[in-house]
This record gives sequence, C-alpha cells and structure tokens, in this order.
Amino acid sequence: MWTFKSFSLLFVSYVYFLPLVCSNPLTMTKQEWKARYPSFSIEEVYSPRALRRLNQTGQHIINFEFLDMLQALRNEVGPIYVNIGQHRRRGVRDPYDNYLIYNKNWNYSFHLAGIAADISSSKYSVDELYPKVKNFRFNNKRFTGIGLYPTWIHVDIRPRTEPGHVFWTG
Ligand SMILES: [Zn+2]
Repeated sequence: MWTFKSFSLLFVSYVYFLPLVCSNPLTMTKQEWKARYPSFSIEEVYSPRALRRLNQTGQHIINFEFLDMLQALRNEVGPIYVNIGQHRRRGVRDPYDNYLIYNKNWNYSFHLAGIAADISSSKYSVDELYPKVKNFRFNNKRFTGIGLYPTWIHVDIRPRTEPGHVFWTG
C-alpha cells in the first residue's frame, strides 16, 4: 500500500543515501585498511551482522570519508571506541540490528548508511568529549549530526543544506 508517508520516507532516504553510497568506493584490501585506519579494526566499526554481509559481498558499507574523520579525531583526542564489549551495534548496522534495537522496522538511520558511529573515549567522559567533538574539524569538514547520550556520543556526516550541525541530547 503506497501512502504519502511511506513514499516521502522512501524519497528522503533515496535522496539522502544514494549519493553517499555511489560516491564512496566500496572495496578496500585489509592492508589498505590497516594503513589508513591504524586505530580501528573492521570488527570495531561493523556489527557482526553487517560484517557477515561485508564478507559475503566484499563491498564496504562504511563511508571511508567518515572513517577518515573518526581516525583524525582519534589522532587528536586519544583512544576513541566504537564497538566495545558486548555493544556491537555502535557503528555500521544491518537493518535487522536496527529492528532489534527499535523493536520495529526503522530503516531511516545513518548507521545503516555507514556514516554514523556512537563513540566513547577512555580518556574523557562524554561531557568532556562533547565540546571536542563539536569543535573538531578535518579538512574543513565537521560532523554534521552530533547527539549526546549518557555514555556515548553519536556522530554522523548527514548531508545538510544549511551550514552547521544538528545537535541533540538523548
Ligand atoms: Zn547513533
């Protein structure tokens, strides 16, 4: 059943994600990964389900420009963690991961498009890390979506027509 709502959601997702998916190269060897992202293993930024998909298709979901920014942030502020302990859905997610988190089909998430991560630091509390993330620039780019949560900070590079970030607390 086509409703206006489902159509507009589909349209928004299409407009948002297609250019990102298309502009991002999808393959990278393990050696290239290690050289470019010395601080992040593939497992640290992919959920187990998303990783299975990567292994099946050989095509990356994570946006490399986004991961370049995380690596640069890590170089600036010290250890940054994405997936840690039993929390394995803080980086790239599979749609089914999102289903388990929200208990419904919710595909409108930047985690699914590989341009978002929930991060924490071993050096700073989230309140200390928050201003550093807000002020962070890499090649003149910054995170365009930043969400402050009790034990993590959500960062993403959502496309924005206006300058500046989208901030929220959760
Ligand atoms: Zn998030």
